[in-house]
Amino acid sequence: MLWIVLFLFGLAIGSFLNVVAVRYDGGETAPLFSPRAIGGRSHCPHCGRTLRWFELVPLASWILQGGRCRSCGAGVSAQYPFAELVSGLIFVLVPWRIMTVAGAGGALLVDLSVFWIVAFEALFLMSLIDIRLGIIPDGLNLSLALIAFFFAVFLGGALGLANHSLFGIYAAAFGLQGSLWLSRIAGAVFGGAFFGALIAMTRGKGMGLGDLKLAIPLGFLLGWPDILFATGAAFVIGAAVGLTAIALGRRTMKGSLPFGPFFALGAAFVFFFGYQFLQWYVRF
Ligand SMILES: [Zn+2]
Repeated sequence: MLWIVLFLFGLAIGSFLNVVAVRYDGGETAPLFSPRAIGGRSHCPHCGRTLRWFELVPLASWILQGGRCRSCGAGVSAQYPFAELVSGLIFVLVPWRIMTVAGAGGALLVDLSVFWIVAFEALFLMSLIDIRLGIIPDGLNLSLALIAFFFAVFLGGALGLANHSLFGIYAAAFGLQGSLWLSRIAGAVFGGAFFGALIAMTRGKGMGLGDLKLAIPLGFLLGWPDILFATGAAFVIGAAVGLTAIALGRRTMKGSLPFGPFFALGAAFVFFFGYQFLQWYVRF
């Protein structure tokens, strides 16, 4: 029952965040979460009719209406149900992962779940905006930095001042695991230095300043060595998607893809599979 409630709540949050992402104009008229940017009743962009409540039910409305507007029959972007579904899955899979792999229970499970759900929802919103506009709002990077800071304060208070890498015991080989704060700062420094060097070497053609501004708070959130693997996974996933797009004729070699979503997927890889990945690697 609780899992179903979590999933439905996640769907609703996803519906809201998708509206925020779709209505955001790069901050030109209003900041990300301001009522001016997201206010107003939802309407069909094709015929302009205001939508009724039963047309706004996450996931269900889109499926029942066959992905079309009830009035004019215009197609409704699959991004709506997709964003809702991803958010619903974040709300279910994050606590499930913390429970099964980290073995946390009780209040610790709830607290860890809240931090990671908020972090992944922020990364998801960032991804939706980066895909649509090719920019990452500073406010989101700042939010991520605040989440990372309070997460470190919480971890230190609840679990002690050693680092709490998602790789568990396998993080020891990478050093800096004795101090929570040193590991987090090292993660931020790595993110900043790596993307700073990449931007300098490619003269800004490969990566944008937005990617650098994302790498620093993400590095602080994940700590060392988690940020190293999140970055590596992001490049592997990005290359796979880029090459597939080129093979399918959807993009040329000169085209570029926004990197933010791949960074979010890299962080998700470390969160969900990092421990098993290193465990498998060590045994191999
Ligand atoms: Zn319509």
